[in-house]
Amino acid sequence: MVFPDKLKRLFIQAYLLERFSTEEDVLNVYQRVCETLGRPYAREDLSSFISNMNQTLDTVDMELRKGHAPQDGTTYYALVNTNGDEVAQMATECTPTEITYFKHLIEIIVHADDDVYELSSTVALSEATRIKPAMTKRDAEAFIDRMIKNKWLVDRDGLISMSLRTILELQTYLKDQYPDRIHECTLCMEIVTTDYERCNVANCQTRLHSHCSRQYFSRRNQNVCPSCQSEWRGILLGTGEHRTGNTGRRTSRRVSASQSTLSLQCDEEEEQEDDENVDMNGTANDSPDDMVVDRPLRRTRDRDAIPTSAGSSRKRPRRPL
Ligand SMILES: [Zn+2]
Ligand SMILES: [Zn+2]
Repeated sequence: MVFPDKLKRLFIQAYLLERFSTEEDVLNVYQRVCETLGRPYAREDLSSFISNMNQTLDTVDMELRKGHAPQDGTTYYALVNTNGDEVAQMATECTPTEITYFKHLIEIIVHADDDVYELSSTVALSEATRIKPAMTKRDAEAFIDRMIKNKWLVDRDGLISMSLRTILELQTYLKDQYPDRIHECTLCMEIVTTDYERCNVANCQTRLHSHCSRQYFSRRNQNVCPSCQSEWRGILLGTGEHRTGNTGRRTSRRVSASQSTLSLQCDEEEEQEDDENVDMNGTANDSPDDMVVDRPLRRTRDRDAIPTSAGSSRKRPRRPL
């Protein structure tokens, strides 16, 4: 199908206001633009329109990238830069100090204990005074509030994690920067950080989004790992659930036996490096800030605006959608 340049231009002008939205919202924009130009609108044309749109956007190093909320599988699109330092591209909405702070938070989230990819809001605020130049806790709190509102970060009961928007927009940065810490869902190949299950078998690297796992196992009589074929006993991670000792900071303790038997050599080495980094950053593990009880950062949070937190369940999902 041929999509005229005028249609693509109007669409992208309208979508620039959003930059990150559900597929339904993208469809609404597409429908409005079709109607404006007197073109027939068909819902099923969207994927070919997006792929045609992306050929045009590619010439200016941009892309409409598709992803799915890990908990319920809702489809989202983000308008992303495909070139250069993607974090620096956030400069339009962040100061250089805020970008440094954001990168620092991502670093800690990515190295969180037991692959939960979460950081307590208390630790996040205390880290603001450790970057150079330092931020005040008040500025840091306002910044984190803004990042939650703009859907870069998610705050669930005082545990901060990366949103789907961040994962889509900073995909290349995350993979380049943390090749040993960023993993993909075995089924959909999208990055896993929140609401996912990890195979409990030693040496099996299988990770499945909650949504993907639910869909996959609902179509099968036997629950076996799609990689190692052992009986699936997925360890549910990144749920925003507080766990004993989870401060969001890498510590020297090993993962507990109940969590995993994944005590690989590479984990040992990685952990040593992480501890060195922590020391170099002047973030000693025995900071008094760690003793403060975690609390929600935002007291008037709109949960519905945060895609990865919607419909969070504490139980291991096994029912069909
Ligand atoms: Zn998946
Ligand atoms: Zn496995």
